[in-house]
Amino acid sequence: MWSESVPGLATGSHRGSGAWPGITVAEWDDWRWQVSNRISSIEQLAKVVHLSPAALLDVEECLKIFRMAITPYYASLIDLQDPRCPIRQQAIPTRAEVSQGQDDSLDPLFEDTDSPVPGLTHRYPDRVLFIVTDQCSMYCRHCTRRRLAGQTDHAPTRAELEARLDYVRRTPRIRDVVLSGGDALLVSDALLDHLLRELRSIPHVEIIRLATRTPVVLPQRITAEFCRMVRKHHPVYVNTHFNHPSELTREAVGACERLADAGVPLGNQTVLLRGVNDCPHVMRRLMHGLLKARVRPYYLYQCDLSRGIQHFRTPTSRGIEIIEHLRGHTSGLAVPAYCIDGPGGAGKIPLGPEYVLSRSPEYLVLRNYEGAITAYREPPSGALAGDKCDTCGEPHDRQPSLGVAAVLDGQRTSLEPAEMERKLRRRRRPE
Ligand SMILES: *Cc1c(COP(=O)(O)O)cnc(C)c1O
Repeated sequence: MWSESVPGLATGSHRGSGAWPGITVAEWDDWRWQVSNRISSIEQLAKVVHLSPAALLDVEECLKIFRMAITPYYASLIDLQDPRCPIRQQAIPTRAEVSQGQDDSLDPLFEDTDSPVPGLTHRYPDRVLFIVTDQCSMYCRHCTRRRLAGQTDHAPTRAELEARLDYVRRTPRIRDVVLSGGDALLVSDALLDHLLRELRSIPHVEIIRLATRTPVVLPQRITAEFCRMVRKHHPVYVNTHFNHPSELTREAVGACERLADAGVPLGNQTVLLRGVNDCPHVMRRLMHGLLKARVRPYYLYQCDLSRGIQHFRTPTSRGIEIIEHLRGHTSGLAVPAYCIDGPGGAGKIPLGPEYVLSRSPEYLVLRNYEGAITAYREPPSGALAGDKCDTCGEPHDRQPSLGVAAVLDGQRTSLEPAEMERKLRRRRRPE
C-alpha cells in the first residue's frame, strides 16, 4: 500500500543491479554498507541517474562549495523519469546552490553565538541542542546547518563530548537535551549508549531527544540492537525529518514502527520546500502517512536563510495556506506547528492563520475553518483577581518568569531592547 504512490520503490529496484551489481540483500540491509557506499562523486552519481553534461558540470561546481552524499537506498527511490522528483531535488546538487541570496548566511540562527561550549547551543531556558557529530548519511540539499554538517566527517573526541556533558551537569535548569548533528544516529550504538547513560545519570535531565533523518534516508540504521539499547534509557524521544509522502516507503515505515514498538514517541519536522512539498495536498498526504506510521507531525519549518538554499524558499503565505488547509479539515494530530526559526537566535516563532477576529472585554470573536463566525463570552471579570493563583495557590508575581510571560505575571511593566534609539536619546538628554 505504501509503495503505490512511490515510483521505482520498495524492494529496491537497484538492488543487485545497475549501480551496485552483485550486492547481497544482507549487504543492502546493513547500514554500514549503505554509509560506506554513499554516492559522493560525480562518477558514482552518473552511474545512478542520467545527467546531461551541463547538469554534471553544475554538480561539479556545487561540489566545490558543498558536499554530496546519497545513500544507495535513498538514491533507489529517485524517479529516473521525473526531473522534478522530490527525492532527486533533496539529494542531487544543482547550480542554484552556487548562487548566494542577499539574505543568506552561514549561521542564520546564531547557533555558534549562543554556544557556551563548542558543539552545544543553549538558547531556551530549560533545554539545549547538543551536537553529537557533524556527519550525516545523506547531505540534504536544503541543509540549514551546512556550515557544520559533513565539514570534518569525524566523530567528536571524548574530551569534546565530555565538555558538553559537563555543561549539562552543572546547569540545573536543563531538563531536556536534544542530541543532534549532523545526524545523531551516525555514531555507534556504543557511543550513543554512553551518552544516554551519562545524561540519564544527571538528576535534572528529564527527557532526551534524538534528532535524526536516518528513518528517511537510512532506515537500515534502526536495528533491533539499536532499539534494545535506546529503551534502556527512556524517556527518549526521536524527531525525524520526512518531507514528502514518497519517502514513506515500506522500509522507512518499518524503521518508524520498530522505534514505536520500542516505546519511543516519534515526531516529525518537515521543511517547507518550494517545488518539493509546498502544496496543501502533498502536505496532507504526508501528514496522514506519518500518522499511519505512528509519527506525530511536530513542526513545519519555514526554510532558513542558510547559504545556497534560496531556491527552496517559499513565501510564508504558502505555509499559512497549508495550515489553513489542515486545521479543522483533518485530525488535529495531523497539524504541525508552522514556525520560522528567527534569524539572529530568536528561536522558533509560530506562524499561522488568524482565528481571532475581534474582542471586547466581554466577547472574543472567532472564526473557524469553515469561515463561520462565533463569539465566546468571557467569564465574569474578577474571577481571576487576588494575590494568589486560584489554581496553583501560589502568587505568580513571586515565581520568576521570563519574557512576555513576566509582563503577564505583573513582574515587569515593559520589555525593551537594550539599544533602543528612544532610550539612547533619553540618556543623552541634558539634565
Ligand atoms: C529547536 C531547538 C530546540 C528545541 O526546541 P523545541 O521547540 O523545544 O522543540 C532547542 N534548542 C535549539 C537551539 C533549537 O534550535
